[in-house]
Amino acid sequence: MGTPPSANGLGLHRSTRAEIDLDAFRHNVRILRQTLKPGVRLMAVVKADAYGHGALPCAGAAMEAGADVLGVGIIAEGLELRRCGVEAPIHVLIGILPDEIDDLLHHNLSTTLCTRPLAEALAKRAAALNQSADIHIKVDTGMGRLGVSWEELPAFLEFIRGLKTLNVCSVFTHLSSADEDADYTHRQLQRMDQALQSLHQRGLPCPPVHCDNSAGLLNFPESQHDMVRLGIALYGVTPPALPEQPARTVPTLRSVMHWKTRVLRINPLPANSYLSYGRRFVTERDSRIAVLPVGYADGLSRSLSGNMDVLVGGRRAPQVGAICMDMCLVDVTDLPPVQEGDEVVLFGRQGEAAITVEEMSARDDTIPYETLCSVGKRVPRVYIP
Ligand SMILES: *Cc1c(COP(=O)(O)O)cnc(C)c1O
Repeated sequence: MGTPPSANGLGLHRSTRAEIDLDAFRHNVRILRQTLKPGVRLMAVVKADAYGHGALPCAGAAMEAGADVLGVGIIAEGLELRRCGVEAPIHVLIGILPDEIDDLLHHNLSTTLCTRPLAEALAKRAAALNQSADIHIKVDTGMGRLGVSWEELPAFLEFIRGLKTLNVCSVFTHLSSADEDADYTHRQLQRMDQALQSLHQRGLPCPPVHCDNSAGLLNFPESQHDMVRLGIALYGVTPPALPEQPARTVPTLRSVMHWKTRVLRINPLPANSYLSYGRRFVTERDSRIAVLPVGYADGLSRSLSGNMDVLVGGRRAPQVGAICMDMCLVDVTDLPPVQEGDEVVLFGRQGEAAITVEEMSARDDTIPYETLCSVGKRVPRVYIP
């Protein structure tokens, strides 16, 4: 898979960029694959433009490193990968609406399915096209979002078996709290087991099963079943251990995205100078303020104003004043002289120092998923093969 130029039309010529370390990504795929029991398949989840990393390069790297299936969120993401020549199996995780059936069938994508009307419409259209449709039946074991209730699985599966053009690839469920709550996760897994046992009791063949997301695999390794669906861990974020299970063996993951910029200007300011909109910060001493060409239009959350650090020359410097649309300010007074043009890291490594995406997201009162997805489309992704 080639390295595409930045898709945002700005080319690679911008000092603010997200470096994507594809070698780290492939490492994560391989090392997570090694934790799987023999025969367990790996779905690499590349939804939301691969959590902001770029779906096409990550899809290629994932397949190269041994993934079996690609998971996208919405069908448009699957179509885009097909348009770019990706031939690997692609699964649409949130499922489709009836008017998306033709696209699904024409482009050989599989879909999540949990309602009878969609099943009937899909089966009918597949029959008309003399085709079959690959479906994964979703079971709700306690997420309250998509899925047939675990108690209704046998009846639903019997109904599906009557639709001959539907090919049931799996039954699966999604864990809501595998990084927070062991009891609840066990309850979900037990409900899934019950559902599978009731299939057995009714003499229905049991399709392949998958339950685990990243936190599920790392915190409940016994729940692998026939496949795992991994997203965040592939991008180098290790889901937190559970309070009840502090000792776990997890592979060392490498962070994939490094968000960088460069100093646009050094602004020497006397004491008592107000900085940025709303005068939220006033210098208490003669200061050197670095202006960075990155702001909330690039996805740098304005609510991080005055509550984040960056790395310059391998040292931390505090961001000060309100984050603007295109710029933000950093106090580099305490650092060895910083020059215009010097590299600045928002998250990632610089020399021995690192700021993790976990740190930035915690300071912004959110989760690494959102921080990664929020890096804006104005920020070119630069791929390090
Ligand atoms: C996004 C998603 C995943 C991946 O979850 P991570 O926590 O990123 O590993 C797995 N399964 C489904 C259904 C998803 O929507």
